[in-house]
Amino acid sequence: MAEGKAFNAFEMAQKQFDKVADMIDLDQASRDLLRNPLREFHFSIPVHMDDGSIKVFRGFRCQHNDARGPAKGGIRFHPQETIDTVRALSMWMTWKTAVADLPLGGGKGGVICDPHNLSSREQEQICRGWIRQVYKNVGPISDVPAPDVMTNAQHMLWMLDEYETITGGRYPGLITGKPVGMGGSLGRKEATGYGLIYTVREALKQLQIDPKNTTASVQGFGNVAQFAIELYSKLGGKVTCISCWDQNESRAITYKKADGINLEELQKITDRFGGVEQDKALELGYEALDGEAWLEQEVDILLPCALENQITEDNVEKIHEKVQIIAEGANGPTTPEADKFLDKRNIFVIPDFLANAGGVTCSYFEQVQSNMNYYWSKDEVLKNLDQKMTAAFWAVTNLSDNRSIFMRDAAYIIGIERVAQASKERGWV
Ligand code: GLU
Repeated sequence: MAEGKAFNAFEMAQKQFDKVADMIDLDQASRDLLRNPLREFHFSIPVHMDDGSIKVFRGFRCQHNDARGPAKGGIRFHPQETIDTVRALSMWMTWKTAVADLPLGGGKGGVICDPHNLSSREQEQICRGWIRQVYKNVGPISDVPAPDVMTNAQHMLWMLDEYETITGGRYPGLITGKPVGMGGSLGRKEATGYGLIYTVREALKQLQIDPKNTTASVQGFGNVAQFAIELYSKLGGKVTCISCWDQNESRAITYKKADGINLEELQKITDRFGGVEQDKALELGYEALDGEAWLEQEVDILLPCALENQITEDNVEKIHEKVQIIAEGANGPTTPEADKFLDKRNIFVIPDFLANAGGVTCSYFEQVQSNMNYYWSKDEVLKNLDQKMTAAFWAVTNLSDNRSIFMRDAAYIIGIERVAQASKERGWV
């Protein structure tokens, strides 16, 4: 994890945007519109804690753009959450839904809190309080939240219940990532990790590499990472490392097994946040290395599936020369300075808002199902997901090839042009 220098995700998102706005000669009004969220909400959530005290949590929701459809994006619970991080993430959601060609915009929410130290009841109060503060500004046809870092299906259901209690109806299309059977979609849990690997599978085709001859190193061991490892292993690939946060030591640790990690055995010793019990991992024969060691491994594929600001100018040169593909399961893991190096090294980068679009794509399917109140089979969901991800991957890859530009720039061009066009057609700019 990069430490020391203050990192501002929003500045990074704007820098990425400005670069591509120049490349496509975007008009000034569109730039002014798209550089900032359309709307944002900041609020306080007072919670009566289990010990009798009252704690006030800060919450946010940013709606970056909704020209193509209702704003869409997750809600994060994180102790280091900032409004600028939420702004950046809401902007990346706009490009993500546009690149995946979904009729949606981009939004993001957050609460500054650490669920590791909160009881289930306290978390429920935060969820209900979040909705009480913004229920007038979100909804099935305006802004549809979802899970993100450290939030899950139960959090979504509490939020839905609070919204329905206030508004007096049943509106399962308010929120996605709900439990299956309570308006959730089959395949939603798997969607981001599987979607990531669909794009890796296509990238390997493009590079004419057989997945069976590849190895990968993964940062993170939460929902995205676990399902990515599952599908990548099914394709015949071997994961040799995972890196995850150790709550006791307050640092990340990389667990390595050169002949391949065993997903199921690690899942048995993992908490709900993707933290692995160190003693047990050592007993199982894993080597425990420094948190950043995942990046330095002699593998073909790197899968950053944790947080933003992980591959930076300070560590990018440590990436092993064998690495050919980086597929970003996390949002914003690579800084623009690190990108320059990856571009020079000719590493095939599958940028975040393409690579991890599987989650929101399945959320879109969930919304459609919830609004129809008719639910599809898991096979149908995953088949449609694969189709959408594969189409988005090739649209970006073909543009990158045709114009000889970096994959991230190609993805940005598609995303920005679609949103700028929708904003123009509406007569906004
Ligand atoms: N939080 C996920 C993301 O960053 C999913 C968002 C959604 O499903 O709306 O893409």
